[in-house]
Amino acid sequence: MIIVFKKSATAGEIEHVTDKIKEVGLAVHLSQGEEITIVGAIGDETLLDGLPLEALPGVEKVMPILKPYKKVCKDMRPEGTVFDVDGVKIGGNKIQIIAGPCSVETVALLEDCAEKVKASGASILRGGAFKPRTSPYSFQGLGEEGLKMLKAAKEKTGMPIISELMDPRDLDLMCEYVDILQIGARNMQNFRLLLEVGKSKKPVLLKRGLSATIKELLMSAEYIASQGNTNIILCERGIRTFERATRNTLDISAVPVLKAETHLPVFIDPSHATGDWSLVEPLSKAAIAVGADGLMIEVHSDPENALCDGEQSLKPAKFDSLMNVLGNIATAVGRTI
Ligand code: PEP
Ligand code: MN
Repeated sequence: MIIVFKKSATAGEIEHVTDKIKEVGLAVHLSQGEEITIVGAIGDETLLDGLPLEALPGVEKVMPILKPYKKVCKDMRPEGTVFDVDGVKIGGNKIQIIAGPCSVETVALLEDCAEKVKASGASILRGGAFKPRTSPYSFQGLGEEGLKMLKAAKEKTGMPIISELMDPRDLDLMCEYVDILQIGARNMQNFRLLLEVGKSKKPVLLKRGLSATIKELLMSAEYIASQGNTNIILCERGIRTFERATRNTLDISAVPVLKAETHLPVFIDPSHATGDWSLVEPLSKAAIAVGADGLMIEVHSDPENALCDGEQSLKPAKFDSLMNVLGNIATAVGRTI
């Protein structure tokens, strides 16, 4: 940690700060210039957590050297995290595609969708059983009934399943059924939920909040990792901006920024990012070109009658042709799909 003093700082003020640093067991490196004085606190700077150095008399600013997201930062595992979900390797050279309906509706619809997306090359089946709807009067999901349908679809197709957890009270139930817990955009900063998910050790897909910065997303991942669970996928799903042409604005630059900052795999959800099925293909292409490790795409066999997000859902035939196009882009960037 580097502490920069004000021009006006007195020798007594500088000594007071260096004493505080030494008290917690760190060494001090003093650099006294003609204009300003700088102090380097050498050693484990976490020992200074909770010490309000910036508020001490004479201090101009305090600059941490370490990232505040210690467990998920790139330096912790420069080779990148790769983990296995029922035989599906997340974070490796192969780009993994999560596909399925926004919400689980009926056995017939889910199984039809699951079989088709699997045949097209998707490796993980999605489907919401607990839905975070803006209106309390909209379809809220089938709850455990939906989880049972997902499990049945898994048994039929062999695809691992992912579904959203909204409430820590449902954690044990969800863990019985799903292979990956999804934390939705609206819960990205539900810190108690993140801690519980961290303790569970289940793989997690953490979506970026609607108005969360990249640093905030990483700090939320850190909550999960702090409990010993680093099987985390980060998912950029569009952020809220002034632009109204799309449901959200896909922050495509989040992919290379995150890949440079963290060892965790990074996925893109072009469906929620745009809210428009016709934009899913171009943004999926962009996502792979820019280095995403996977995609989450909403697919529905009958989008006109979907109970949720039909307007952004691809029909299975469209998803199939998209997968063919994406294969070429993956090859161009040295990856498989
Ligand atoms: C979803 O994937 O079903 C969902 C609700 O997404 P988000 O949390 O990104 O809005
Ligand atoms: Mn949806």
